[in-house]
Amino acid sequence: MQLSDPITKLAGIGAKRAEQFAKLSIHTVYDLLAFFPRTYEDRTKLTDIAHLQVDEPACFRAIVCSSPTTSHIRKGLDITKVTVADHSAKLKLTFFNQPYRADSLKYGEEYYFYGAVCGDFIGYQMNTPVVERIDSPGVLTRRIMPIYPLTAGITNTVIAKAVRQVLDNCLSEMPEILPEQVRRENGLISVQEAYRTVHDPETVEDLERARKRLVFEEFFIFAAGLRLLRERRTVLEKTAYANTDLHGFAEKLPFALTGAQKRAIVEIINDFRRDTPMNRLVQGDVGSGKTMVAAAAAYCVAQNGEQTALMAPTEILAEQHYASLSKLFENTPVRCGLLTGSMKASEKKAVRAKAERGEINLLIGTHALISEATQFSSLGLVIADEQHRFGVGQRAALSAKGTAPHLLVMSATPIPRTLALIMYGDLDISVIDELPPGRQGVDTYLVDETMRKRINAFIRRQVEEGHQVYIVCPAVEESEIESLKSAESWAETLQSTVFSDLRVALLHGQMKGAEKDAIMSAFKDGEYDILVATTVIEVGVDVPNATLMVIENADRFGLSQLHQLRGRVGRGGAKSYCILFSSASDGDTLARLKALCKTNDGFQIAEEDLRLRGPGDFFGTRQSGLPVFKVANLSLDPSILKRAQEAANRFLAEADPVSPAIKALLGRIRLLFPPESNIYN
Ligand code: ADP
Ligand code: MG
Repeated sequence: MQLSDPITKLAGIGAKRAEQFAKLSIHTVYDLLAFFPRTYEDRTKLTDIAHLQVDEPACFRAIVCSSPTTSHIRKGLDITKVTVADHSAKLKLTFFNQPYRADSLKYGEEYYFYGAVCGDFIGYQMNTPVVERIDSPGVLTRRIMPIYPLTAGITNTVIAKAVRQVLDNCLSEMPEILPEQVRRENGLISVQEAYRTVHDPETVEDLERARKRLVFEEFFIFAAGLRLLRERRTVLEKTAYANTDLHGFAEKLPFALTGAQKRAIVEIINDFRRDTPMNRLVQGDVGSGKTMVAAAAAYCVAQNGEQTALMAPTEILAEQHYASLSKLFENTPVRCGLLTGSMKASEKKAVRAKAERGEINLLIGTHALISEATQFSSLGLVIADEQHRFGVGQRAALSAKGTAPHLLVMSATPIPRTLALIMYGDLDISVIDELPPGRQGVDTYLVDETMRKRINAFIRRQVEEGHQVYIVCPAVEESEIESLKSAESWAETLQSTVFSDLRVALLHGQMKGAEKDAIMSAFKDGEYDILVATTVIEVGVDVPNATLMVIENADRFGLSQLHQLRGRVGRGGAKSYCILFSSASDGDTLARLKALCKTNDGFQIAEEDLRLRGPGDFFGTRQSGLPVFKVANLSLDPSILKRAQEAANRFLAEADPVSPAIKALLGRIRLLFPPESNIYN
């Protein structure tokens, strides 16, 4: 058997089982080995029956002391009963729908069991415990039992038995990625040992060692991938721009730039004067005016006869940028174009034709920008707005359209400095640490249901004063699972009850692009008082007249996300507010939400978020565009990350570029980074 074989090679796995495994993304023997338990149960200790605790699962050894009987209660329900005993006590066992137990459990014979007793003073019993013969090697009892994520039809036992076969037959084939020296220097166990331990740990300490090794490996691959990205960029050349005079741009501005905006623009222009492509991240809190910095860059690029592609994460945002930038560039030589997925095919074709002929200087759009069909006559600059929604890969794919264009990445997700240096190690960083003048912080309050009436009155007062209100819900439609507010039904409820005299609109991501656009621009034009929405409005939407942001089930969102949402208000001159509704009672959750009430500083919030709940909010999800780590955690394992990064850098610098070790490493990098990263060509 080989790691690349389909799992049907394993005993007991046929076509039907394979289909179930496929639902867990397990297709090959390797997939099974790389399928990690979500937790473990300690089944190592044996307990006397007399010492079993109610509802606490435990392992014990006992003799069957009655003949099992099965009764057919009704269709679909068979109950098998048997009594077992050890030296300390007797216990009644009941098996549901396992009639074969009547034959397999033999009177007078001994077995291992694992389960939890239930019952009260009338008598204890145990329902459907795990059973194992005493001569079995101990797959289900007497060990630290891995508990795997499951899907319909597959039990933990099925997975555990399949994994055992793989461990026994082809673990030795697992290739070692980490060079021997790196392992020795960092005290890391071998890959085979790590995988065996993950699936079959002998002690909890072993498990920790295995985890450390796998975390190191993931970071090593990640760091090596980043380094390749960086190396590739530094060898590129680009003709320095001769014309970097921005007076024509400055004249068009409706306001004076802040000092921080000017600094960022100067840094960008300095990059343009060099003969290598720029790779710059502009980090600035929501509302700090990043768009103008992007506009200045695009203007300069146009002055030098090249084109800019500005990529936004949502259609709403792309359209908004298009509207404001085409207005800004009226009567200048900069011609703007818009390209989004929901445009008509004929419109898209026309815009693309113009871009290809060089008749558009600044093309603004969504993912459609990076599709095959879009060609530029001379792409000089790629701007990715709100980049935490864009993958490294998507950026790279767009860059590949020009001959080494400049790259400007704009992010409103403040990242603690230590992490930023690692995550964006391939970029230079400009920070816009100043808000345009006259901005006041958004007053933020955490409330529960008892405040509902007063908040409703507050909403009404804002509207009466001529302002507008956002209400954000975590779900689109009613869900059965939890008491989550859904945008659809909440909008309906508000419109038909408390706010029947106000104009309530609904906006969510499942709507068609054109529909969303119509509602958003109507809201912007003041045709609605209240916009009930999902997080589609999270990024970049600009309605200065909106002064109140109400967030339902606020505990369902990450801090950074809440901070983004809050950034939708406080964009005009009027005092603005944010209300966080939550009925959560646990201390951690409340501490998180209160952190938001205390400060408007995105960097402080990011630090706090990282400290309180780890980086899941802006890292670790597919959405972040960063690799998804299986075992590693950027906030929990920063010291391992640092060491792995050093080791990877040294290894890449010293290793023979055509050695099998490098080849194997590249293979793994390819798996970790999204396919379109094209970091190898
Ligand atoms: P960001 O993208 O950084 O969140 P935006 O670029 O959308 O912020 O700018 C937020 C708002 O501030 C916009 O309405 C913009 O017109 C305005 N703005 C930007 N720069 C300035 C400035 N220097 N002075 C006054 N208003 C500004
Ligand atoms: Mg923005």
